[in-house]
Amino acid sequence: MGHYLLSAEARFSAAHTLPGVDMCERMHGHNWRVQVTVRVQQDDLDAAGMGVDFRMLATVASESVHDFEHRYLNELEPFAESPPTAETIARVVCERVAARLAAVAPAAEVVEVTLWEMPEYRVVYRPA
Ligand SMILES: [Zn+2]
Repeated sequence: MGHYLLSAEARFSAAHTLPGVDMCERMHGHNWRVQVTVRVQQDDLDAAGMGVDFRMLATVASESVHDFEHRYLNELEPFAESPPTAETIARVVCERVAARLAAVAPAAEVVEVTLWEMPEYRVVYRPA
């Protein structure tokens, strides 16, 4: 039996510093783009024949980065333990999306979060 992979994106602009990382120690900003991909088993399509409503998935993606918008990420609670590298941001987004989906779309399992720091630089996080 097959499965579906569905994706939606969100964007945010924010500043960060990365201690000990050459130029990145200086405060600077990025226009981040994040893509959330979920898996839905073929048997789990809803009555309308959908795995998850794209608009709902887009809302979940947006909500997962909402408090990052126009902020200095290093000051925020999710980055208290580890600096806001692209890797850490992608993991935090993945955890938030997973928690939200459990409530609103239990058939959808987040399998991948792709985060673009710049158009040519991206990181993919996959939960274990
Ligand atoms: Zn940076």
